[in-house]
Amino acid sequence: MTEAGTERKEGIWAVDGDPLGQEPLLGLGPEATSLSLDDLTSILAAHSGRIHGVLRSQKALSGLGRMLTNEVLFDAGLSPFANAAKLGSDEIARLHASIASIAEAALEHERTLDDIGSSSDRPSKVHNRAGMPCLDEGCHQKIAAVEYRAYKVFYCPARQTAGKQLADNTTSKFLR
Ligand SMILES: [Zn+2]
Repeated sequence: MTEAGTERKEGIWAVDGDPLGQEPLLGLGPEATSLSLDDLTSILAAHSGRIHGVLRSQKALSGLGRMLTNEVLFDAGLSPFANAAKLGSDEIARLHASIASIAEAALEHERTLDDIGSSSDRPSKVHNRAGMPCLDEGCHQKIAAVEYRAYKVFYCPARQTAGKQLADNTTSKFLR
């Protein structure tokens, strides 16, 4: 097993009996793709924090990694730094639709592969595209990124943050 990146999070567990009640699945949130709009609304209301972090937190909802989180927020047109608990109902509805369509597209792509590809081979609109032109028709922005030690947040400023460049005071020393 190999893992890209410096953080060691991958692992293999051998469990006896029903895996859902045991580590490492114990405490995992519900599967992102099977959430109803009401489920998603209550999860977000219970998680005051940046939406990018909440979506990646496997305890809030499971199944969205760094790449899918970037793609979902772009698709929904939401700022990665928006407070999850303060999203309006129209924003939550967009997010709900985007989670379903982006996860489904990712699964479809996986099914075309002979073996499990690395995320860099997967098609993306914002993930790993910092500095490249936005693929939205008519959008002439370059994809922007906020860089953290273990991951990067990618977004289109025109589509997601009303043109604003995001920066993080707590991590600005990691920014290029
Ligand atoms: Zn754009």
